[in-house]
Amino acid sequence: MEKDIKSYTKKELEAELAAIGEKTFRAKQIYSWLHEKQAKSFEEMTNLPKGLREKLAKEYQILTLQPIKQLESKLDGTKKYLFELYDKNIIESVCMKYHYGNSVCISSQVGCRMGCRFCASTIDGLERSLAVSEMLGQVYQIQELSKERVGHVVVMGSGEPMDNYENIVKFIHMLSDEDGLHISQRNITISTSGLVPEIKRFAEEGLQVTLALSLHAPNDTIRKTLMPIANRYGIEEVLEACQYFFKKTGRRITFEYSLVQGVNDSEEAAEELAKKIRHINCHVNLIPVNPIKEREFKESQNKEILQFKKKLEQYGVNVTVRREMGRDIEGACGQLRRSFMGKQKV
Ligand code: SAH
Repeated sequence: MEKDIKSYTKKELEAELAAIGEKTFRAKQIYSWLHEKQAKSFEEMTNLPKGLREKLAKEYQILTLQPIKQLESKLDGTKKYLFELYDKNIIESVCMKYHYGNSVCISSQVGCRMGCRFCASTIDGLERSLAVSEMLGQVYQIQELSKERVGHVVVMGSGEPMDNYENIVKFIHMLSDEDGLHISQRNITISTSGLVPEIKRFAEEGLQVTLALSLHAPNDTIRKTLMPIANRYGIEEVLEACQYFFKKTGRRITFEYSLVQGVNDSEEAAEELAKKIRHINCHVNLIPVNPIKEREFKESQNKEILQFKKKLEQYGVNVTVRREMGRDIEGACGQLRRSFMGKQKV
């Protein structure tokens, strides 16, 4: 297979060009064609000499994702997209409309190996990690299909971004590059189930993104019933890594907490959580778990949700209750892909 040119950072592209005896300023031009103007072919790159365009076309390919399905929620305008990759794997992405603009939620892997009990993405395990071009491609395609600007990107779709570390870091640099979509790093959120060594390494990258940590429990006992990763890293260690991230970046941590009826939504759980995190510069997002048909978990009811929120507030913790978006279009992580694949198999 020819090389996937959209996965190269500008620096890497410069090195590639130098290696074939070309001037490095061409890298900036090519990068802008690929990531700002989103050219689909080398012929479009009219400010490059014809010879160079031909040379590039021989060595590299411009991969684009194939949109195969689009669904729009009648409840809140959320749009869900299924894309096919070059190897026929299918991924899903979501576009949510907020008062501050459009936010796109992308996948970082095909499937996932974290095994969270309530999550549909992980049921069949990990297929493979996504290339940088495939993560960028989700944002580019949604912007093109919707004809609306994407202002925010959250890596909260299928997959564990910290399990695709190098590509995620490149993805952030490239998404925020002035010769690409130029999305501010402050408008990019990376969500992780809590891989401690990777969080610490991530803190050193000099990035200004938001780190969202999927906590979902106030202690290891409960966390282990929901997230196998809790067997590898204890909650204290995870919180310490989050504080380290804050210390290094100055970026406030977001804690995600999906409320599961009778599992992690009691008043005692809220109190225990509040005591553990009130000294951390953080924000908690509470979201009722989106039930998936493969598991027995149910979402907490309004009464429990508000009681949980109130308890956190009593301890001075910032907290927001998130609406579930796109519930009528299988909005939760990996649900749509699974139901699509299921239908295909029939
Ligand atoms: N692997 C990363 C990012 C993908 S999951 C992580 O774990 O953070 C994005 C968020 O959606 C996580 O907080 C995850 O726990 C949550 N999630 C997954 N399935 C869900 C469901 N059915 N209901 C509610 N939240 C869910």
